[in-house]
Amino acid sequence: MPPGGTRDDMTIRRQQMVAMLADEFHIRDVRVLEAMAKIPRHRFVPDALKAQAYRDGALPIASGQTISQPYIVARMTELLELKGNEKVLEIGAGTGYQTAILATLARKVFAIERHDALAREANLRLADLGFRNITLKTGDGTKGWDAYHPFDAILVAAGSPEIPAPLVSQLKVGGKLVIPVGGSREDQRLIRVTRTESGTKTEDFGPCMFVPLIGVHGWKDQQQ
Ligand code: SAH
Repeated sequence: MPPGGTRDDMTIRRQQMVAMLADEFHIRDVRVLEAMAKIPRHRFVPDALKAQAYRDGALPIASGQTISQPYIVARMTELLELKGNEKVLEIGAGTGYQTAILATLARKVFAIERHDALAREANLRLADLGFRNITLKTGDGTKGWDAYHPFDAILVAAGSPEIPAPLVSQLKVGGKLVIPVGGSREDQRLIRVTRTESGTKTEDFGPCMFVPLIGVHGWKDQQQ
C-alpha cells in the first residue's frame, strides 16, 4: 500500500481478475499471470465500458471489432510458452491489449491489424504506456510478415476457415502458432501448430469464438 493512500480501484479489480484466471480458469504460467496483473486493461477499452474492463468478457471496440476476453488472452499466451527471448508475430492487434501482454513476455513483437483506425490508436496507446519493443502496422496478417520471419511464436486473434500456409512457413523449427480455426463463428477450435524438423504437430485446445480473420488466406468476403 503506498504511504498515505490506498491502491487505486482499477489495480484491485485487476488483481481480482488475475486471481480468477488462476483459480477458476486454471491459468498456470506465472509469467502470464504477472503480465495480466501489470497491464492496465482499462486503458484499452472504450471510456463508456471502463467499469467492465476487469470482468471476464469480450467488449466491443471501434470498427465493429472486440477486445478479447481476458481468459482467452491468457490461455493463448500460455500456449505459446514464452520464456522471454522470443520474436513474436501477432495478427489482429485490435486495441493492442494482447500486443502489450506479448511484449511484456517476449523480446520483440511484430503486430498487424487490418483496420487502420484501430492500428493507429493501438500504436499511440502502446507508445503512451512506454512500450519500445513493438512494431505494429496496418495490413493483411494472413500473409504473415515476410521481412521479419522466422518467428518463435505467432498468435492469431481472429477466426480463420483454415490455417494460413504462410504463417506456418514463417515459423522457426520448434516455433508455435496459436490460432482459432473453424468453418463458422459458432464452430471454432483453438489450435496450436508446432513446427518440427519433419513437418508440423497440431493440437486442439477446445472450442472458442472470435471475429473473422479476413484476408487472402482467411475469409475472402467482406463480412465483419
Ligand atoms: N486481440 C485484440 C483484438 C481481437 S479482435 C484485442 O484484444 O484488442 C480481432 C482483430 O483482428 C480485429 O481488430 C480485426 O480487425 C483483426 N483482423 C481481422 N482480419 C485480419 C487480418 N487479415 N489481418 C490483420 N488483422 C485482422
